[in-house]
Amino acid sequence: IVSIENLHKRFCKGNVCVANEVSFSIQEGEIFTILGRSGSGKTTLLRMLSGLETPDSGTICIGDKVVFDAKTNVPPNQREIAIVFQNYALLPHLNIAQNIAFGSKADQKELLHVMQKTKIETLSSKYPHEISGGQQQRVALARAILDKPKILLLDEPLSNIDTELRAILRAELKEMIKRFGITALFITHDKEDAFFLSDRIAIMEGGDILQIGSPKEVYNHPNSLQCAHFLGKMN
Ligand code: ATP
Repeated sequence: IVSIENLHKRFCKGNVCVANEVSFSIQEGEIFTILGRSGSGKTTLLRMLSGLETPDSGTICIGDKVVFDAKTNVPPNQREIAIVFQNYALLPHLNIAQNIAFGSKADQKELLHVMQKTKIETLSSKYPHEISGGQQQRVALARAILDKPKILLLDEPLSNIDTELRAILRAELKEMIKRFGITALFITHDKEDAFFLSDRIAIMEGGDILQIGSPKEVYNHPNSLQCAHFLGKMN
């Protein structure tokens, strides 16, 4: 449902190559994770996919549409993607129903339906500061899926959450993504989150994808010393 071919990007400032001929594709219904250290190029990749950053070369397809190539650069709002950010980015002065509906063309019936499915319908008139971290995650998810994106991008959604709650939210996030049949691209530096959530993982370092495989394959059979080091299997 998403395919990326030979995506290349170099930042002139600092002469950093953040994507070195990166290629991969994501199947419908799959949770695909880019796992890498800070500075490996994950965020830039997400920004290129969503149209916030322009690649130097390569091709990006979402659904059956080319959204970027040498001749095409579809603007972010026409790419049929949605993003859940690290801190959920809820608007503090809007209530929960308004937060979810913000910028959406969906009608009241669709809004209610999504709120029921994410079990937050009783929170409609509350404000973000009045609800728990877990509820905020569900609101962010509801907002992201309301307009039925082709792909949901998750930018370290669990990284600011303490360990105990994190395990619960991780499980809940996976359960909801799978229940809704959502295709998701998740970026993280956290191995535990990646291994738990993903159908497949791509390990990224210095703008290169080192290996792509199921959590089991990647963990049991790292294809290089670099991957083994990263996974903490070597000293
Ligand atoms: P993090 O997890 O810390 O966000 P990351 O893996 O997402 O890291 P990126 O944010 O994509 O990595 O950054 C990759 C590299 O590109 C870093 O070395 C960063 O300093 C550099 N970089 C990012 N944005 C720019 C920019 N606009 N101009 C110049 N260099 C940049």
